[in-house]
Amino acid sequence: MSVFVRCVLILHKFSADNGLNTRSEGDQTGCRDSPMNIWQKPITMSYPCITYSENKHMIKIEMDTGSGFCFGVVNAIKKAEQELDNASPLYCLGDIVHNGSEVERLNKRGLQIIEHEEFDSLKNVRVLFRAHGEPPSTYLAAKANHIQVIDATCPVVLKLQQRIKHAYETHPHHEWQIVIYGKIGHAEVNGLVGQTGNTAIVVEHWEDLDQVDMNKNICLFAQTTKSISGFNNLVETIKKKINPAVSFEFYDTICRQVSNRIPNIRTFAVRHDIVFFVSGTKSSNGKALFDECKAVNPNSHLISTPEDITPSLLKGVSTAGICGATSTPKWLMEEVAKKLEKIASVTND
Ligand code: SF4
Repeated sequence: MSVFVRCVLILHKFSADNGLNTRSEGDQTGCRDSPMNIWQKPITMSYPCITYSENKHMIKIEMDTGSGFCFGVVNAIKKAEQELDNASPLYCLGDIVHNGSEVERLNKRGLQIIEHEEFDSLKNVRVLFRAHGEPPSTYLAAKANHIQVIDATCPVVLKLQQRIKHAYETHPHHEWQIVIYGKIGHAEVNGLVGQTGNTAIVVEHWEDLDQVDMNKNICLFAQTTKSISGFNNLVETIKKKINPAVSFEFYDTICRQVSNRIPNIRTFAVRHDIVFFVSGTKSSNGKALFDECKAVNPNSHLISTPEDITPSLLKGVSTAGICGATSTPKWLMEEVAKKLEKIASVTND
């Protein structure tokens, strides 16, 4: 969809002067398709758009073009859809993406989400490994049970697995500790820890550092979706604590698909009166990106579906921004835009 700005009628009457001020502020937002002559005549846009009249309050709705699936998720979903075109069912080990609505869409096409317990009991079926990746033990189990693996591990995660495996193999175990900055129990982290024969120490919170021996060499990596600032803080903390006589290697392995979005999403969030951040509740990067929105715009709301929108939130609002995580489908953000339009037309009835 080429047009991201939609105009909707909502809430209550405004004076012409108020309206002009509102329009002027909106045009400074950088919305790509802001109509210049919006006050002269009803507008027609390529997206179903409600015409407006001058004496109504108008909301500009902008969808962040930088939000939506990263290439790792696009790749996984494309693979799943290709396989489903051939035959169904297709099993997927864990949610293919941390977004319930997208999982539901693919489920209707024949994708069945299973957990490891169920995986262990399956034989002679096709199972997709999602972008997060899996530890070597899962591949061994698949081989033993004649399971055809559709491997959709993200290339960035795969590369990180290989680096950690290499570090584990080249650093003598009695002298070195492999440490991973990540979320304990997260699927990607489990896959990374598996590269070290489950010996790596995962540091999620500061207290987890107690497990790390500061008199022994440390080789540190990061889960791809962690924050760069958190990683840098951890590096500085270890530098202060570690015995100067031992070695400390650290590798920033954070995926820029997430961190590069932060400056953009902050700029996007700050220029709207209200922000709807669309994300599944299990998404790590969704939480991190939403926190960035909230930091610059306290009127930011984390929603999973359009149904989470409360009409009263739009009262007195002139611009609404819709953005999301690397696991948020564009179609879902479009549904949110439609819901906003619906609320507006209902309110005007
Ligand atoms: S965030 Fe980065 S590492 Fe994770 S799936 Fe997307 S592209 Fe891959």
